[in-house]
Amino acid sequence: MSDDWNMPEGNLMAGKRGIVMGVANQNSIAWGISRQLAAQGAEIAFTYQGEGLERRVRPLIESIGMDTMIPADVTDDESMDAAFAAIKDKWGTIDFLVHSIAFAGKDELMGSMVEKTSREGFRRAMDISVYSFIDCARRGAELMPNGGAMLCMTYLGAERTIPSYNVMGVAKAALEASTRYAARDLGKQGIRVNAISAGAMRTLSLAGIRGGKSLMGTGREWSLLKEDTKMEGVAGAALYLLSDIGLSITGEIVHVDAGFHAVGVPEPTE
Ligand code: NAD
Repeated sequence: MSDDWNMPEGNLMAGKRGIVMGVANQNSIAWGISRQLAAQGAEIAFTYQGEGLERRVRPLIESIGMDTMIPADVTDDESMDAAFAAIKDKWGTIDFLVHSIAFAGKDELMGSMVEKTSREGFRRAMDISVYSFIDCARRGAELMPNGGAMLCMTYLGAERTIPSYNVMGVAKAALEASTRYAARDLGKQGIRVNAISAGAMRTLSLAGIRGGKSLMGTGREWSLLKEDTKMEGVAGAALYLLSDIGLSITGEIVHVDAGFHAVGVPEPTE
């Protein structure tokens, strides 16, 4: 991530507390979002998967003045019970939740979707990348008696076919539908639920997709803005959706991809 990010500081999130799930390193989308939320006064508890990540992520969160890190593997109910109990003990209630988690096996993320998708691989991708959001929405809503906002991360592969994205595209389509259903269920409790559809960004997750890097090149070349998706833009949209300037917005999928989603056919080269 570029360090020349001119991050807007302010108090849009002052007095708000929430959970960010999915920081693995300094390139994670969840980390970009966290920096922006913290710069606007948010207090954040981070969940992480596995001890290795604890060591890598702790210095990051300390650099923005936070200290709460709680282990949580979204495939493990006991671990999720313990994580949400720890947050309840700490704060009682929360105002926001960010889910920035996905996984599919490397074998599933190459070649033919029809040939490569095993029953177990499908189950795993859907469990980690979709069910976990539904589970977090239920657990998070219990901690939001006064309303709040939730956010998850999706990609254009939910709407269009993208080479090698395969079962993850199917999972993202289900995640987008889950966003709308969760928004319906939780709306009466004053909880808004939205998703950001980000363009391809250089993270660990992108590296897991065969030809993932070329998605960035194509994005740059074809996009309306002729540039990479900027973390600043994704984090700014997250701030908008999670703060009170995003009031009345729910069940929405916001594209932050330099306009890539709006392209039907790229410009002719001659
Ligand atoms: P990342 O690898 O930094 O983040 C993925 C996170 O998922 C990691 O922190 C990892 O620990 C977590 N995770 C995986 N399995 C887990 C489990 N069982 N329990 C708990 N956590 C688990 O990559 P990223 O690109 O920042 O991905 C974040 C989100 O953004 C994902 O939903 C991804 O699909 C989405 N997204 C990424 C891009 C991109 O181009 N990088 C574009 C659009 C959307």
